Amino acid sequence: MGLCKQCEEFDVRQLLCGSAAQEPDATGNTDRNFVDTKDYRAAVPYFYKHYDKINALKIFADQGCELCHLFWCTWAKTLKKDDINEEFLDKYFPGQLFIGCSSWKTSRQGFPYVTLTQQTPTGGSRTLCSFEAFANRDDVPTEGESLLGRAVYPDSASKACMSVVEEWLRICLREHKECSPLCKPASPLPTRVINVGDKDSDPRLLTSNGKIEPWIALSYCWGGDSQFVFNDKTMDNLQKGIPLNSFPATLRDAVIITRSLGIRYIWIDALCIKQDSAEDWAREAAKMREVYSGAVLTVVAANSPSTNSGIFSQRISGERATLEWRDSMNSRTIPVQLRPGSELWDHALSRSPLMSRGWTLQEGLLSLRTVSYGAQQMIWECPCYQADEGGRITKATEDYRPKAFIQNLIRIQKTQLMKPPLFLEKLNLRSSKPEKWWKSYAIADPYDKWNDIAEQFMCRSLTKDFDVLPALSGLARVF
Ligand SMILES: [Zn+2]
Ligand SMILES: [Zn+2]
Repeated sequence: MGLCKQCEEFDVRQLLCGSAAQEPDATGNTDRNFVDTKDYRAAVPYFYKHYDKINALKIFADQGCELCHLFWCTWAKTLKKDDINEEFLDKYFPGQLFIGCSSWKTSRQGFPYVTLTQQTPTGGSRTLCSFEAFANRDDVPTEGESLLGRAVYPDSASKACMSVVEEWLRICLREHKECSPLCKPASPLPTRVINVGDKDSDPRLLTSNGKIEPWIALSYCWGGDSQFVFNDKTMDNLQKGIPLNSFPATLRDAVIITRSLGIRYIWIDALCIKQDSAEDWAREAAKMREVYSGAVLTVVAANSPSTNSGIFSQRISGERATLEWRDSMNSRTIPVQLRPGSELWDHALSRSPLMSRGWTLQEGLLSLRTVSYGAQQMIWECPCYQADEGGRITKATEDYRPKAFIQNLIRIQKTQLMKPPLFLEKLNLRSSKPEKWWKSYAIADPYDKWNDIAEQFMCRSLTKDFDVLPALSGLARVF
């Protein structure tokens, strides 16, 4: 496959770099909803002239042009109509086609979309579809660093994909000031943890005795009827060690991730809380907050409906078109691809099996860092930003991201400089709000934030009614 002449001459580098070079207020739109004009990048005012009618896309797609094919398929799909012919297109969608790009906010959206736009005979314009330009992680043009997305790996179990998580963690630990605790990170291990072992030794249950070591926490759906839990019957075997291939897939994958990050311990509720002891359960569930907020990273099995379904997945990639980025820095061309702009919007993540479970709201929010394994890609979140495997980085803004807010509160509390009143007392004080202790830390009003969180929580179902109190208690204590 190659490109038709019209597509061959389209210069994606010029379009994106031209847009990035624009003054933020170039379109005069900046005062609309944009708090910070430096954050806003206007789209370039010029467009690349493509074919004069949509039917041409269909013709050149049939002749093997990759870009026409991507444009045509992506747009035609939106019509939900089988027999689209030339007559129909000329009648309902007449007009010249252009390739342009969107404006974007550097903090929220990361980079511009490449758009296919049609100028209608009456002088109006309509965007037919939009695309993300992306490069392979190991070959990103220097000029395109912050303008291009990144390719998503076909298999999330692959070494290459795992190294993305390693890199996120490394950057966060080394470079993010806002992600390190204000005082020395000296969290002792949870009461019990799984020592993940290595290729020569099996994972086994360990009583930690307050040893200070980093650990991973797992957030996942139980589901299924797994008998693979810690109780009187299984205690001996768990303590001696159980071969990794006997683990249910979700827990097995979590151990693999932990090993590959070079961390020795993981906390998994089913294996670290004694499931046949109401006493143990009550005691350990009360410590959940410390388990998740103290973990170096929480692995979120966002796409796993049960303990047996596993965390890793094969990603299905849709249509692509390969273009050349003519890099002006080192006079060589680097392959850059386009994918439909909606492909990686992982709405699946918020609708995933895990997100419907009440517990996971607090698990995710209390964790300093989370890596979520969605169906299409992985998503990293720490107080500094949310980054996805596809390359988008959304910076933390206090208004929209509960994680940064909660983590800020946890950090402050860990300094022991001040003790916020108990949550219940604070609820009673709600109307008068006399103590604005949080103001001096430049954080938003926690009452408002609490409402948001409680609302999100109500939308999630809990498996058992009695889960409600422990599930919310970890969060409430932060307030
Ligand atoms: Zn073409
Ligand atoms: Zn960070």
